Amino acid sequence: MSFHQFDVSVVGAGLAGLAAASALSRSGAKVALIERKPFFGGRAYSYLHPAVEEVIDSQHVMVGCCTNLRHLCEVAGVADRIRWYDGYTFLEPGGRRSLLVPGVLPSPAHSSLSFLSAPMLRWADKAAIAKGLLQFLRGYPEHDNESVASWLKRSGQTQRAIRHFWQPVIVGALNDSFERCSVKYAGQVFHETFLRSTEGGQLGIPREPLSDFYSAVATDAEKHGAILLKGNVMELRPEGDGWRVIMRDEPDVLARAVVLAVSFEHVPAFLTGDVLHRALPNGLHAFQHSPITTVHLWYDREITELEHAVLLDTTIEWMFHKSKIRGSATGSGSYLELTISASHAQLKQSREHILSSALQELAQFFPHARTARLLKGAVLKEAKATFSVVPGLDEFRPAQKTGVPGLFFAGDWTRTGWPSTMEGAVRSGYLAAEAVTSEHARSARFLQPDLPASGLMKFLARQ
Ligand SMILES: Cc1cc2nc3c(=O)[nH]c(=O)nc-3n(C[C@H](O)[C@H](O)[C@H](O)COP(=O)(O)OP(=O)(O)OC[C@H]3O[C@@H](n4cnc5c(N)ncnc54)[C@H](O)[C@@H]3O)c2cc1C
Repeated sequence: MSFHQFDVSVVGAGLAGLAAASALSRSGAKVALIERKPFFGGRAYSYLHPAVEEVIDSQHVMVGCCTNLRHLCEVAGVADRIRWYDGYTFLEPGGRRSLLVPGVLPSPAHSSLSFLSAPMLRWADKAAIAKGLLQFLRGYPEHDNESVASWLKRSGQTQRAIRHFWQPVIVGALNDSFERCSVKYAGQVFHETFLRSTEGGQLGIPREPLSDFYSAVATDAEKHGAILLKGNVMELRPEGDGWRVIMRDEPDVLARAVVLAVSFEHVPAFLTGDVLHRALPNGLHAFQHSPITTVHLWYDREITELEHAVLLDTTIEWMFHKSKIRGSATGSGSYLELTISASHAQLKQSREHILSSALQELAQFFPHARTARLLKGAVLKEAKATFSVVPGLDEFRPAQKTGVPGLFFAGDWTRTGWPSTMEGAVRSGYLAAEAVTSEHARSARFLQPDLPASGLMKFLARQ
Protein backbone atom coordinates (compact mmCIF):
# COMPACT_ATOMS: atom_id res chain seq x y z
CA MET A 1 0.00 0.00 0.00
CA SER A 2 1.42 3.42 -0.91
CA PHE A 3 1.12 6.59 1.14
CA HIS A 4 0.90 10.25 0.24
CA GLN A 5 2.26 12.97 2.45
CA PHE A 6 0.41 16.29 2.61
CA ASP A 7 0.36 19.35 4.84
CA VAL A 8 -3.43 19.22 5.06
CA SER A 9 -6.05 16.72 4.03
CA VAL A 10 -9.51 18.23 3.52
CA VAL A 11 -12.27 15.61 3.69
CA GLY A 12 -15.40 16.61 1.75
CA ALA A 13 -15.63 18.92 -1.27
CA GLY A 14 -18.83 20.77 -0.43
CA LEU A 15 -18.61 24.54 -0.16
CA ALA A 16 -16.82 24.32 3.22
CA GLY A 17 -14.15 21.91 1.95
CA LEU A 18 -13.72 23.80 -1.31
CA ALA A 19 -13.22 27.08 0.58
CA ALA A 20 -10.68 25.52 2.96
CA ALA A 21 -8.77 23.85 0.11
CA SER A 22 -8.82 27.01 -1.98
CA ALA A 23 -7.53 29.19 0.87
CA LEU A 24 -4.87 26.73 2.03
CA SER A 25 -3.53 25.86 -1.42
CA ARG A 26 -3.35 29.57 -2.32
CA SER A 27 -1.30 30.16 0.81
CA GLY A 28 1.22 27.55 -0.32
CA ALA A 29 0.15 24.48 1.68
CA LYS A 30 0.26 21.03 0.06
CA VAL A 31 -3.41 20.05 0.18
CA ALA A 32 -5.32 16.86 -0.63
CA LEU A 33 -9.05 17.45 -1.18
CA ILE A 34 -10.93 14.16 -0.89
CA GLU A 35 -14.54 13.72 -2.06
CA ARG A 36 -16.53 10.50 -2.28
CA LYS A 37 -19.14 11.69 -4.79
CA PRO A 38 -18.42 12.09 -8.48
CA PHE A 39 -19.11 15.86 -8.34
CA PHE A 40 -18.05 18.95 -6.36
CA GLY A 41 -20.28 21.27 -4.35
CA GLY A 42 -21.72 18.81 -1.80
CA ARG A 43 -25.37 19.68 -1.18
CA ALA A 44 -25.08 22.45 -3.78
CA TYR A 45 -24.97 19.89 -6.60
CA SER A 46 -26.58 19.12 -9.92
CA TYR A 47 -27.01 15.81 -11.69
CA LEU A 48 -28.49 14.21 -14.76
CA HIS A 49 -31.98 13.07 -13.77
CA PRO A 50 -32.41 9.76 -15.58
CA ALA A 51 -36.20 9.91 -16.02
CA VAL A 52 -36.39 13.40 -17.53
CA GLU A 53 -32.90 13.31 -19.08
CA GLU A 54 -32.14 16.83 -17.90
CA VAL A 55 -29.43 18.17 -15.58
CA ILE A 56 -31.25 19.48 -12.53
CA ASP A 57 -30.35 21.02 -9.19
CA SER A 58 -32.27 22.34 -6.21
CA GLN A 59 -32.28 26.09 -6.58
CA HIS A 60 -29.56 27.72 -4.50
CA VAL A 61 -29.64 31.49 -4.17
CA MET A 62 -27.18 33.87 -2.56
CA VAL A 63 -27.58 37.44 -1.45
CA GLY A 64 -25.26 40.41 -1.79
CA CYS A 65 -24.11 40.21 1.83
CA CYS A 66 -22.61 36.72 1.26
CA THR A 67 -19.16 38.28 1.11
CA ASN A 68 -17.19 35.06 1.61
CA LEU A 69 -19.08 33.05 -0.99
CA ARG A 70 -18.71 35.91 -3.43
CA HIS A 71 -14.99 36.07 -2.67
CA LEU A 72 -14.61 32.32 -3.34
CA CYS A 73 -16.43 32.74 -6.66
CA GLU A 74 -14.30 35.74 -7.55
CA VAL A 75 -10.94 34.10 -6.88
CA ALA A 76 -12.08 31.03 -8.82
CA GLY A 77 -13.12 33.21 -11.75
CA VAL A 78 -16.82 32.28 -11.75
CA ALA A 79 -18.31 35.47 -10.27
CA ASP A 80 -19.42 36.62 -13.71
CA ARG A 81 -21.52 33.46 -14.05
CA ILE A 82 -23.90 34.70 -11.33
CA ARG A 83 -27.01 36.59 -12.37
CA TRP A 84 -27.91 39.38 -9.94
CA TYR A 85 -31.37 40.84 -9.33
CA ASP A 86 -32.22 44.02 -7.42
CA GLY A 87 -35.88 43.36 -6.68
CA TYR A 88 -38.27 40.68 -5.45
CA THR A 89 -41.73 40.11 -6.93
CA PHE A 90 -44.41 38.81 -4.55
CA LEU A 91 -47.44 37.24 -6.28
CA GLU A 92 -50.84 36.59 -4.76
CA PRO A 93 -53.17 33.89 -6.11
CA GLY A 94 -55.00 35.63 -8.97
CA GLY A 95 -51.74 37.23 -10.09
CA ARG A 96 -51.69 40.55 -8.21
CA ARG A 97 -48.06 41.69 -7.96
CA SER A 98 -46.10 43.54 -5.30
CA LEU A 99 -42.54 44.52 -6.09
CA LEU A 100 -39.95 45.19 -3.40
CA VAL A 101 -37.15 47.05 -5.11
CA PRO A 102 -34.59 49.68 -4.06
CA GLY A 103 -35.47 53.25 -4.97
CA VAL A 104 -33.81 56.64 -4.55
CA LEU A 105 -33.84 56.83 -0.76
CA PRO A 106 -30.71 55.91 1.21
CA SER A 107 -30.48 52.78 3.40
CA PRO A 108 -32.28 51.77 5.54
CA ALA A 109 -35.18 53.30 3.59
CA HIS A 110 -33.99 52.12 0.15
CA SER A 111 -36.96 49.78 -0.43
CA SER A 112 -39.52 51.78 1.52
CA LEU A 113 -41.25 53.46 -1.44
CA SER A 114 -42.02 50.13 -3.09
CA PHE A 115 -42.92 48.66 0.31
CA LEU A 116 -45.42 51.45 0.96
CA SER A 117 -47.09 50.90 -2.40
CA ALA A 118 -47.16 47.06 -2.19
CA PRO A 119 -50.79 45.93 -2.57
CA MET A 120 -50.16 42.59 -0.83
CA LEU A 121 -50.17 44.43 2.53
CA ARG A 122 -52.68 46.78 4.18
CA TRP A 123 -51.64 49.85 6.16
CA ALA A 124 -51.99 48.06 9.48
CA ASP A 125 -49.72 45.27 8.19
CA LYS A 126 -47.13 47.75 6.94
CA ALA A 127 -47.13 49.62 10.25
CA ALA A 128 -46.60 46.34 12.14
CA ILE A 129 -43.78 45.29 9.79
CA ALA A 130 -42.07 48.69 10.06
CA LYS A 131 -42.28 48.45 13.85
CA GLY A 132 -40.82 44.94 13.72
CA LEU A 133 -38.01 45.89 11.33
CA LEU A 134 -37.03 48.78 13.58
CA GLN A 135 -35.95 46.19 16.14
CA PHE A 136 -33.29 45.03 13.67
CA LEU A 137 -32.21 48.48 12.57
CA ARG A 138 -29.02 48.70 14.58
CA GLY A 139 -28.28 44.97 14.51
CA TYR A 140 -29.80 41.71 15.67
CA PRO A 141 -29.87 39.82 18.98
CA GLU A 142 -26.56 38.48 20.19
CA HIS A 143 -28.18 35.46 21.83
CA ASP A 144 -30.27 32.85 20.07
CA ASN A 145 -32.62 32.01 22.95
CA GLU A 146 -35.93 33.33 21.53
CA SER A 147 -37.96 31.70 18.76
CA VAL A 148 -39.39 33.64 15.84
CA ALA A 149 -42.86 32.42 16.92
CA SER A 150 -42.49 34.14 20.28
CA TRP A 151 -41.05 37.31 18.71
CA LEU A 152 -43.87 37.63 16.14
CA LYS A 153 -46.40 37.49 18.97
CA ARG A 154 -44.46 39.88 21.15
CA SER A 155 -43.98 42.41 18.37
CA GLY A 156 -47.70 42.47 17.52
CA GLN A 157 -47.58 41.28 13.92
CA THR A 158 -50.83 40.97 11.95
CA GLN A 159 -51.82 37.70 10.28
CA ARG A 160 -51.39 39.17 6.81
CA ALA A 161 -47.98 40.66 7.69
CA ILE A 162 -46.93 37.19 8.80
CA ARG A 163 -48.28 35.39 5.72
CA HIS A 164 -47.13 37.94 3.13
CA PHE A 165 -43.84 39.13 4.58
CA TRP A 166 -42.30 37.42 7.59
CA GLN A 167 -43.13 33.87 6.53
CA PRO A 168 -41.84 33.91 2.93
CA VAL A 169 -38.62 35.61 3.97
CA ILE A 170 -37.90 33.69 7.18
CA VAL A 171 -38.99 30.23 6.06
CA GLY A 172 -37.28 30.78 2.68
CA ALA A 173 -34.00 31.85 4.30
CA LEU A 174 -33.89 29.66 7.43
CA ASN A 175 -35.87 26.69 6.10
CA ASP A 176 -37.95 25.80 9.12
CA SER A 177 -41.07 26.77 11.04
CA PHE A 178 -41.21 29.83 13.31
CA GLU A 179 -40.93 27.64 16.42
CA ARG A 180 -37.74 26.05 15.10
CA CYS A 181 -35.93 29.25 14.09
CA SER A 182 -34.34 31.68 16.48
CA VAL A 183 -35.01 35.39 16.12
CA LYS A 184 -31.26 36.04 16.15
CA TYR A 185 -30.85 34.52 12.68
CA ALA A 186 -34.13 35.96 11.37
CA GLY A 187 -32.98 39.37 12.61
CA GLN A 188 -29.67 38.86 10.82
CA VAL A 189 -31.50 38.21 7.53
CA PHE A 190 -33.59 41.39 7.86
CA HIS A 191 -30.72 43.55 9.04
CA GLU A 192 -28.24 42.40 6.41
CA THR A 193 -30.56 42.09 3.40
CA PHE A 194 -33.33 44.63 3.98
CA LEU A 195 -31.79 47.44 6.02
CA ARG A 196 -28.00 47.66 6.13
CA SER A 197 -27.29 48.35 2.44
CA THR A 198 -28.87 48.08 -0.99
CA GLU A 199 -26.18 45.70 -2.17
CA GLY A 200 -26.73 43.32 0.75
CA GLY A 201 -30.24 42.48 -0.46
CA GLN A 202 -29.44 41.70 -4.08
CA LEU A 203 -30.35 38.19 -5.13
CA GLY A 204 -27.73 36.12 -6.95
CA ILE A 205 -28.36 32.93 -8.90
CA PRO A 206 -25.71 30.92 -10.76
CA ARG A 207 -26.48 30.84 -14.47
CA GLU A 208 -25.45 27.22 -14.82
CA PRO A 209 -26.03 23.88 -13.05
CA LEU A 210 -24.47 23.93 -9.59
CA SER A 211 -21.91 21.15 -10.05
CA ASP A 212 -20.56 22.83 -13.21
CA PHE A 213 -20.37 26.09 -11.30
CA TYR A 214 -18.54 24.68 -8.27
CA SER A 215 -16.26 22.38 -10.30
CA ALA A 216 -14.57 25.56 -11.41
CA VAL A 217 -13.73 26.30 -7.75
CA ALA A 218 -12.14 22.84 -7.38
CA THR A 219 -10.22 23.31 -10.63
CA ASP A 220 -8.95 26.64 -9.36
CA ALA A 221 -7.70 25.02 -6.11
CA GLU A 222 -6.02 22.36 -8.28
CA LYS A 223 -4.31 25.10 -10.28
CA HIS A 224 -2.86 26.35 -7.01
CA GLY A 225 -1.44 22.94 -6.20
CA ALA A 226 -4.28 21.09 -4.43
CA ILE A 227 -4.54 17.42 -5.32
CA LEU A 228 -8.15 16.34 -5.93
CA LEU A 229 -8.74 12.75 -4.83
CA LYS A 230 -11.84 10.70 -5.35
CA GLY A 231 -12.39 8.44 -2.38
CA ASN A 232 -14.66 7.37 0.41
CA VAL A 233 -12.91 8.23 3.67
CA MET A 234 -13.60 5.58 6.31
CA GLU A 235 -11.59 6.74 9.31
CA LEU A 236 -9.28 9.47 10.57
CA ARG A 237 -6.58 8.14 12.87
CA PRO A 238 -3.98 10.21 14.78
CA GLU A 239 -0.50 8.94 13.90
CA GLY A 240 2.82 10.41 14.97
CA ASP A 241 2.50 14.18 14.75
CA GLY A 242 -0.16 13.97 12.03
CA TRP A 243 -3.11 11.98 10.74
CA ARG A 244 -3.74 8.90 8.70
CA VAL A 245 -6.76 9.22 6.42
CA ILE A 246 -8.03 5.75 5.69
CA MET A 247 -10.08 5.30 2.52
CA ARG A 248 -12.10 2.44 1.15
CA ASP A 249 -10.32 0.91 -1.89
CA GLU A 250 -7.77 3.74 -2.14
CA PRO A 251 -4.30 4.20 -0.61
CA ASP A 252 -4.19 5.93 2.77
CA VAL A 253 -3.32 9.61 2.87
CA LEU A 254 -0.94 11.00 5.50
CA ALA A 255 -1.19 14.63 6.48
CA ARG A 256 -0.05 16.89 9.29
CA ALA A 257 -3.57 18.28 9.71
CA VAL A 258 -7.07 17.24 8.71
CA VAL A 259 -10.03 19.50 7.98
CA LEU A 260 -13.16 17.35 8.33
CA ALA A 261 -15.62 19.22 6.11
CA VAL A 262 -18.63 16.91 6.13
CA SER A 263 -22.20 17.46 7.26
CA PHE A 264 -22.71 17.10 11.04
CA GLU A 265 -24.45 13.71 10.93
CA HIS A 266 -21.44 12.13 9.24
CA VAL A 267 -18.80 13.30 11.73
CA PRO A 268 -19.05 10.43 14.29
CA ALA A 269 -18.31 7.81 11.62
CA PHE A 270 -14.75 9.09 11.11
CA LEU A 271 -13.43 9.27 14.66
CA THR A 272 -12.97 6.77 17.45
CA GLY A 273 -14.96 7.36 20.67
CA ASP A 274 -12.17 9.06 22.62
CA VAL A 275 -11.09 11.41 19.81
CA LEU A 276 -14.72 12.20 19.01
CA HIS A 277 -15.44 13.11 22.60
CA ARG A 278 -12.42 15.40 22.83
CA ALA A 279 -13.24 17.06 19.51
CA LEU A 280 -16.97 17.41 20.16
CA PRO A 281 -17.51 17.45 23.93
CA ASN A 282 -21.08 18.75 23.54
CA GLY A 283 -22.08 16.07 21.06
CA LEU A 284 -24.48 16.58 18.18
CA HIS A 285 -27.84 15.95 19.82
CA ALA A 286 -28.91 19.61 19.43
CA PHE A 287 -28.74 19.49 15.62
CA GLN A 288 -31.86 18.74 13.57
CA HIS A 289 -32.37 18.50 9.82
CA SER A 290 -34.97 20.28 7.77
CA PRO A 291 -36.00 19.20 4.25
CA ILE A 292 -36.50 21.08 0.96
CA THR A 293 -38.56 19.78 -1.95
CA THR A 294 -38.28 21.13 -5.47
CA VAL A 295 -40.59 20.60 -8.43
CA HIS A 296 -39.15 20.86 -11.95
CA LEU A 297 -41.43 21.57 -14.90
CA TRP A 298 -40.77 21.77 -18.62
CA TYR A 299 -43.47 23.47 -20.72
CA ASP A 300 -43.84 23.78 -24.46
CA ARG A 301 -44.02 27.59 -24.09
CA GLU A 302 -43.44 30.35 -21.58
CA ILE A 303 -46.15 30.72 -18.96
CA THR A 304 -44.69 33.93 -17.47
CA GLU A 305 -42.15 36.58 -18.33
CA LEU A 306 -40.99 36.76 -14.67
CA GLU A 307 -37.57 35.27 -13.86
CA HIS A 308 -38.44 34.53 -10.24
CA ALA A 309 -41.26 35.28 -7.83
CA VAL A 310 -42.36 34.62 -4.28
CA LEU A 311 -45.73 32.83 -4.40
CA LEU A 312 -47.95 33.81 -1.48
CA ASP A 313 -50.59 31.76 0.36
CA THR A 314 -49.54 28.45 -1.21
CA THR A 315 -47.35 25.45 -0.55
CA ILE A 316 -45.02 26.22 -3.46
CA GLU A 317 -43.17 29.25 -2.14
CA TRP A 318 -40.90 30.39 -4.87
CA MET A 319 -40.85 30.12 -8.65
CA PHE A 320 -37.57 30.24 -10.55
CA HIS A 321 -37.81 30.52 -14.32
CA LYS A 322 -34.61 28.63 -14.91
CA SER A 323 -34.55 28.71 -18.69
CA LYS A 324 -34.65 32.52 -18.49
CA ILE A 325 -32.18 32.77 -15.60
CA ARG A 326 -29.72 30.55 -17.46
CA GLY A 327 -30.34 32.43 -20.68
CA SER A 328 -31.33 29.20 -22.40
CA ALA A 329 -34.90 30.27 -23.27
CA THR A 330 -35.48 29.62 -26.93
CA GLY A 331 -38.93 31.14 -27.18
CA SER A 332 -40.38 27.72 -27.83
CA GLY A 333 -40.30 26.26 -24.35
CA SER A 334 -39.52 26.96 -20.73
CA TYR A 335 -38.13 25.30 -17.62
CA LEU A 336 -39.44 26.32 -14.20
CA GLU A 337 -38.45 25.21 -10.72
CA LEU A 338 -40.75 25.58 -7.71
CA THR A 339 -39.36 25.30 -4.21
CA ILE A 340 -41.05 24.18 -1.01
CA SER A 341 -38.98 25.05 2.08
CA ALA A 342 -39.28 23.17 5.39
CA SER A 343 -41.12 20.48 3.42
CA HIS A 344 -41.68 18.08 6.34
CA ALA A 345 -45.17 17.19 5.06
CA GLN A 346 -43.95 16.49 1.51
CA LEU A 347 -41.43 13.92 2.75
CA LYS A 348 -44.37 11.60 3.39
CA GLN A 349 -46.23 12.40 0.17
CA SER A 350 -45.80 10.64 -3.16
CA ARG A 351 -44.03 12.48 -5.97
CA GLU A 352 -47.19 12.23 -8.10
CA HIS A 353 -49.21 13.95 -5.38
CA ILE A 354 -46.63 16.74 -4.92
CA LEU A 355 -46.46 17.28 -8.68
CA SER A 356 -50.20 17.44 -9.24
CA SER A 357 -50.87 19.80 -6.33
CA ALA A 358 -47.97 22.05 -7.44
CA LEU A 359 -49.48 22.24 -10.93
CA GLN A 360 -52.86 23.21 -9.52
CA GLU A 361 -51.32 25.91 -7.34
CA LEU A 362 -49.15 27.24 -10.16
CA ALA A 363 -52.20 27.82 -12.37
CA GLN A 364 -53.61 30.20 -9.72
CA PHE A 365 -50.67 32.52 -10.35
CA PHE A 366 -50.02 31.95 -14.03
CA PRO A 367 -53.20 31.28 -16.06
CA HIS A 368 -51.12 30.26 -19.11
CA ALA A 369 -50.09 27.17 -17.13
CA ARG A 370 -53.61 25.85 -17.85
CA THR A 371 -53.19 25.95 -21.61
CA ALA A 372 -49.46 25.29 -21.97
CA ARG A 373 -48.47 21.66 -22.49
CA LEU A 374 -46.42 20.16 -19.69
CA LEU A 375 -43.71 18.16 -21.46
CA LYS A 376 -42.17 16.60 -18.36
CA GLY A 377 -41.88 17.06 -14.64
CA ALA A 378 -39.71 15.86 -11.76
CA VAL A 379 -39.80 16.15 -7.98
CA LEU A 380 -36.62 16.24 -5.90
CA LYS A 381 -36.84 15.68 -2.14
CA GLU A 382 -33.81 16.61 -0.03
CA ALA A 383 -34.57 15.26 3.45
CA LYS A 384 -31.35 16.58 5.02
CA ALA A 385 -31.15 19.87 3.15
CA THR A 386 -30.19 22.13 6.06
CA PHE A 387 -29.86 22.14 9.82
CA SER A 388 -32.39 24.21 11.73
CA VAL A 389 -31.26 27.21 13.76
CA VAL A 390 -33.47 26.15 16.67
CA PRO A 391 -33.34 28.46 19.70
CA GLY A 392 -30.36 27.60 21.90
CA LEU A 393 -28.33 25.86 19.16
CA ASP A 394 -25.40 28.31 19.20
CA GLU A 395 -23.76 26.90 22.30
CA PHE A 396 -23.57 23.50 20.61
CA ARG A 397 -21.99 24.70 17.36
CA PRO A 398 -18.29 23.84 17.64
CA ALA A 399 -15.44 26.12 16.63
CA GLN A 400 -13.38 25.03 13.63
CA LYS A 401 -10.35 24.41 15.85
CA THR A 402 -11.05 21.32 17.95
CA GLY A 403 -9.46 20.24 21.21
CA VAL A 404 -7.51 17.58 19.27
CA PRO A 405 -4.20 18.78 17.74
CA GLY A 406 -4.26 18.74 13.95
CA LEU A 407 -8.01 18.12 13.69
CA PHE A 408 -10.29 20.88 12.41
CA PHE A 409 -13.98 21.00 11.54
CA ALA A 410 -15.53 22.88 8.65
CA GLY A 411 -19.15 22.82 7.52
CA ASP A 412 -22.17 25.11 7.64
CA TRP A 413 -23.07 23.59 11.04
CA THR A 414 -19.90 24.80 12.79
CA ARG A 415 -19.71 28.15 14.61
CA THR A 416 -19.92 30.73 11.82
CA GLY A 417 -22.57 33.17 13.01
CA TRP A 418 -24.60 32.21 9.94
CA PRO A 419 -27.49 29.81 9.41
CA SER A 420 -27.27 26.73 7.20
CA THR A 421 -26.22 28.38 3.95
CA MET A 422 -23.50 28.36 1.32
CA GLU A 423 -22.11 31.54 2.91
CA GLY A 424 -21.98 29.81 6.30
CA ALA A 425 -20.16 26.86 4.70
CA VAL A 426 -17.57 29.07 2.99
CA ARG A 427 -17.03 31.05 6.19
CA SER A 428 -16.41 27.80 8.05
CA GLY A 429 -13.87 26.71 5.42
CA TYR A 430 -11.98 29.99 5.62
CA LEU A 431 -12.06 29.90 9.44
CA ALA A 432 -10.79 26.31 9.45
CA ALA A 433 -7.99 27.32 7.07
CA GLU A 434 -7.07 30.20 9.40
CA ALA A 435 -7.01 27.81 12.37
CA VAL A 436 -4.76 25.36 10.47
CA THR A 437 -2.25 28.06 9.63
CA SER A 438 -2.24 29.45 13.17
CA GLU A 439 -1.46 25.99 14.56
CA HIS A 440 1.57 25.87 12.29
CA ALA A 441 2.87 29.30 13.31
CA ARG A 442 2.21 31.10 10.04
CA SER A 443 -1.14 32.69 10.77
CA ALA A 444 -3.03 33.82 7.71
CA ARG A 445 -6.33 35.67 7.40
CA PHE A 446 -8.89 34.35 4.93
CA LEU A 447 -12.27 35.44 6.32
CA GLN A 448 -13.69 38.34 4.33
CA PRO A 449 -15.17 41.41 6.02
CA ASP A 450 -18.93 41.97 6.09
CA LEU A 451 -20.43 44.44 3.64
CA PRO A 452 -20.12 47.97 4.98
CA ALA A 453 -23.31 49.77 5.98
CA SER A 454 -24.44 52.34 3.42
CA GLY A 455 -26.52 55.52 3.45
CA LEU A 456 -27.83 56.49 6.87
CA MET A 457 -26.96 53.03 8.15
CA LYS A 458 -23.35 54.19 8.37
CA PHE A 459 -24.50 56.11 11.45
CA LEU A 460 -27.28 53.80 12.65
CA ALA A 461 -25.87 50.26 12.39
CA ARG A 462 -23.71 48.79 15.11
CA GLN A 463 -20.47 48.04 13.27
C1 LIG B 1 -32.29 21.55 -1.62
C2 LIG B 1 -31.36 22.53 -0.97
C3 LIG B 1 -31.54 23.88 -1.19
C4 LIG B 1 -30.69 24.80 -0.57
N1 LIG B 1 -30.84 26.12 -0.85
C5 LIG B 1 -29.89 26.99 -0.41
C6 LIG B 1 -29.91 28.34 -0.85
O1 LIG B 1 -30.78 28.76 -1.62
N2 LIG B 1 -28.94 29.17 -0.39
C7 LIG B 1 -27.95 28.74 0.46
O2 LIG B 1 -27.07 29.54 0.81
N3 LIG B 1 -27.92 27.46 0.89
C8 LIG B 1 -28.86 26.58 0.48
N4 LIG B 1 -28.81 25.27 0.88
C9 LIG B 1 -27.84 24.89 1.93
C10 LIG B 1 -26.44 24.68 1.35
O3 LIG B 1 -26.47 23.75 0.29
C11 LIG B 1 -25.55 24.13 2.47
O4 LIG B 1 -25.62 24.96 3.61
C12 LIG B 1 -24.08 24.06 2.03
O5 LIG B 1 -23.96 23.59 0.71
C13 LIG B 1 -23.34 23.14 3.01
O6 LIG B 1 -22.02 22.96 2.59
P1 LIG B 1 -21.00 22.07 3.45
O7 LIG B 1 -19.73 22.07 2.71
O8 LIG B 1 -21.03 22.56 4.84
O9 LIG B 1 -21.62 20.59 3.50
P2 LIG B 1 -21.92 19.57 2.32
O10 LIG B 1 -22.38 20.31 1.12
O11 LIG B 1 -22.85 18.55 2.89
O12 LIG B 1 -20.51 18.93 1.97
C14 LIG B 1 -19.98 17.80 2.61
C15 LIG B 1 -19.21 16.99 1.59
O13 LIG B 1 -18.55 15.91 2.27
C16 LIG B 1 -18.60 14.78 1.42
N5 LIG B 1 -18.40 13.56 2.22
C17 LIG B 1 -19.22 13.04 3.17
N6 LIG B 1 -18.73 11.87 3.63
C18 LIG B 1 -17.55 11.67 2.98
C19 LIG B 1 -16.59 10.62 3.02
N7 LIG B 1 -16.74 9.55 3.80
N8 LIG B 1 -15.50 10.72 2.22
C20 LIG B 1 -15.33 11.79 1.40
N9 LIG B 1 -16.23 12.80 1.30
C21 LIG B 1 -17.33 12.73 2.09
C22 LIG B 1 -20.00 14.86 0.84
O14 LIG B 1 -20.14 14.04 -0.31
C23 LIG B 1 -20.10 16.35 0.53
O15 LIG B 1 -19.62 16.66 -0.75
C24 LIG B 1 -29.66 24.35 0.31
C25 LIG B 1 -29.49 22.98 0.51
C26 LIG B 1 -30.30 22.08 -0.14
C27 LIG B 1 -30.04 20.61 0.04
